[in-house]
Amino acid sequence: MTELSGGPSLPQERRVVTAIPGPKSQELQARRSATVAGGVGSTLPVFTVRAGGGVIEDVDGNSLIDFGSGIAVTSVGSSAEAVVRRASAQLANFTHTCFMVTPYEGYVEVCEELAKLTPGDHAKKSALFNSGAEAVENAVKIARAYTKRTAVVVFDHGYHGRTNLTMALTAKNMPYKQGFGPFAPEVYRVPVAYGYRWPTGPENCGPEAAAQAIEQITKQIGAENVAAIIIEPVLGEGGFIEPAKGFLPEIVKFANDNGIVFVADEIQSGFCRTGQWFACEDEGIVPDLITTAKGIAGGLPLAAVTGRAEIMDAAHAGGLGGTYGGNPVACAAALGSIETMRELDLNAKAKRIEEVMKGRLSAMQEKHDVIGDIRGRGAMIAIELVKDPATKEPNAEAAGALAKACHSEGLVVLTCGTYGNVLRFLPPLVIGEDLLNEGLDIIEGALAKL
Ligand SMILES: *Cc1c(COP(=O)(O)O)cnc(C)c1O
Repeated sequence: MTELSGGPSLPQERRVVTAIPGPKSQELQARRSATVAGGVGSTLPVFTVRAGGGVIEDVDGNSLIDFGSGIAVTSVGSSAEAVVRRASAQLANFTHTCFMVTPYEGYVEVCEELAKLTPGDHAKKSALFNSGAEAVENAVKIARAYTKRTAVVVFDHGYHGRTNLTMALTAKNMPYKQGFGPFAPEVYRVPVAYGYRWPTGPENCGPEAAAQAIEQITKQIGAENVAAIIIEPVLGEGGFIEPAKGFLPEIVKFANDNGIVFVADEIQSGFCRTGQWFACEDEGIVPDLITTAKGIAGGLPLAAVTGRAEIMDAAHAGGLGGTYGGNPVACAAALGSIETMRELDLNAKAKRIEEVMKGRLSAMQEKHDVIGDIRGRGAMIAIELVKDPATKEPNAEAAGALAKACHSEGLVVLTCGTYGNVLRFLPPLVIGEDLLNEGLDIIEGALAKL
């Protein structure tokens, strides 16, 4: 039997004992290059053996501080106790029947939890899938079945996945779309309230951007043709953009007034990541449908569409599903993950992470002009890097150099942003404050050397 040596019991310390990546990782990287398709990239090619709490241990014995959570997935930490306990028990009982053949309780329990946790006290139903992209695709299917309309509205800087329909929904060409078209039709993109780069300033951004978006929808598509408006309440891959205040409520009102299904894509921002169960709660938004994945199941592949019962029931029986959707082990992991979020009050932890990070990053910004903007909520925080704070010219080189410097010191950080100039921080919500500060020390050191 494999020794259970990861998870929260892993020593919570940074330890750099070789170059990063070390010799064993380099050996594995050579094997990988010979056999794994080149289109699948890695931020940092150190091969993992264990992970838990706020650290990732590699094959060379290095222990890295984790500011990535496998892209906002292991919010409860890798191999969290309740996730391992529940998923292991499920593994020993049965691994799969297919919910569409003979169902099981775990799937129903996850849907019950989703109904309780998502915003709004209306009757709700859910359907479970394997990946975020699959959830978004199904939200579109459901919205089209309900409205009997076809058009889908998305936003500048939006990211919704890598399948054909979700590539169409995604804004950024490289690396997500280049060479992979043609894309699905009836997808329309409108402006989003990106306060930092709004020509008339962040104060005016919310209402102005909403007016522009609504004008475009009305004039170019026709509201009566729109099945769904899909937006991330905090835009993830696009650069951790929090739509300026007032923007989301205006868009929701427009959707409600025009019989359009409003879909909040909370795949990255959901499940305590921003210090609330869902980021759209921040402005009191109640979406018609909400897509979730990433943080939902502590690292096992699970995704969901949750929403108003009458909308969710619009698709005919057999119209939704998939062989693995709502796999029993993934459902058990989700229940373990939700248990952990409640027990450890991970919303409070995320808020504390925001306080520490924003405090330290603001002090760094005073010394370093390269930090144009600090933004995000909870444990979803980013810095946008610029060549000159006056012109705000994006500085992707600085983002790349900082990320590289952090990696070599044993801190996993990710970049993002339409202009590739955003450094984003997504630590596990269970990270210790000493590790959090040590990670920030490394970022501070890297800035000084830039
Ligand atoms: C990651 C992500 C997706 C796609 O999820 P996958 O599980 O990678 O398919 C969709 N929407 C948002 C907002 C995401 O962050």
